[in-house]
Amino acid sequence: MVTIQAVAVVLSLLLAAPAATARSDHGSARSESASTRTEPAPMQSVEPTDSPQPQPAAFARCLAELQPRAAARGVPAQAYAGYTQPVLPDPSVLELLNAQPEFTTPIWDYLAGLVDEDRIEDGQRLLQEHRELLQRVEQAYGVDPATVVAVWGVESDYGRIFGKRPLLVSLATLSCAGRRQDFFRGEFIATLALLQAGDIRDPGLTGSWAGAFGHTQFMPTTYARVAVDFDGDGRRDLVDSIPDALASTANYLKRAGWRTGEAWGFEVTLPPGFDVGSVGRTNRRPLSDWLSRGVKRVDAAANTNTKPAMPPADTRAAVLLPAGKAGPAFLVFRNYDAIYAYNAAESYALAIALLSDRLRGASGLAAAWPTDDPGLGRRERRELQTLLLARGHAIGEVDGLIGTNTRRAIQAEQQRLGLQPADGRAGRRILQALRAEATASPAPAATP
Ligand code: CA
Repeated sequence: MVTIQAVAVVLSLLLAAPAATARSDHGSARSESASTRTEPAPMQSVEPTDSPQPQPAAFARCLAELQPRAAARGVPAQAYAGYTQPVLPDPSVLELLNAQPEFTTPIWDYLAGLVDEDRIEDGQRLLQEHRELLQRVEQAYGVDPATVVAVWGVESDYGRIFGKRPLLVSLATLSCAGRRQDFFRGEFIATLALLQAGDIRDPGLTGSWAGAFGHTQFMPTTYARVAVDFDGDGRRDLVDSIPDALASTANYLKRAGWRTGEAWGFEVTLPPGFDVGSVGRTNRRPLSDWLSRGVKRVDAAANTNTKPAMPPADTRAAVLLPAGKAGPAFLVFRNYDAIYAYNAAESYALAIALLSDRLRGASGLAAAWPTDDPGLGRRERRELQTLLLARGHAIGEVDGLIGTNTRRAIQAEQQRLGLQPADGRAGRRILQALRAEATASPAPAATP
């Protein structure tokens, strides 16, 4: 089998930001890896930095130079002109490409936003709604329904959030200016080839600033390589066809080495004196080795349908400590790597893995994250934003996304209330403080 890692190892990728909580305003270069797309790191917010602007003449010259490459991929000159003539460069994508981290998001905030009640309830409903389809996908690719739906939920909030930037504009700009032109030229040409082949039909198609789009948020080259036509209409359509999108997600995981019927991993406890130098996703040992060191499943005593089977003793396994020794610990197997390949970030892979467990009916983590100020789900984030609006902060619409304006408003409230640290973080403590205040004396707008 040709693995995704082998196919994509030549690509130096930036890191993708799963889901709406991280996608709109983040950006940071990350390591070389095989993944579905190129985008910002999920754990960081960013502030744009200055970038050189593409000049109109140079932009036109650049597009003319790319035309033969598109022709070699089946896009005739006349069609190329039709696709590219309306395209003007968008300097704002270059700002995102070069953006520097402004905030670092703790993993408990990241997971609280992605594995929240809304996403669990929606996912469970969609598992029922698409039950027959998901069974056929499982038969064809060997990937179980909960995993496929969890990827869908984290990638696009089950098809709600595709990104708002015109793909051809972003990719043409990034192909002709900035520091990753070679990479983005491949994505630009792949997009044109998908349009010309009829897989996608709308040249005004939108996606993330870096070019990920559709239900699965694949980059165009990943789309070209991995997407499948599962509804049989002759087109691989990951924008308007849920069957194509879910089957393509399963196909991606299969090609990344998915093992049918095996768990991604599970939460464990570590024995006293455990050597933390032995942890990390790439530090693999036989499962029996970890068990003999005293690593134990937290659900060892449970006897439910949701409890995954223990793999064979010689299965290669790694221990993860995403927040250090004081937080939850996990033992992970090959399927965790397959999920990781989708986006090359530990936090991202863990969000999908934990969401898939919740969709199967499992309860949340046994161990607490090492914080006395836990993270908020999107309902609570919206409540926090509503309270900030009521106090007169101009933070825009209540959308559950914690952007720069919301953070500044939180910071101002933290300072007013004497909460430390006044870091602008949307945590439980500031929510409870504002909630208590609003209950005790409603804001003027809410007073009769
Ligand atoms: Ca189709």
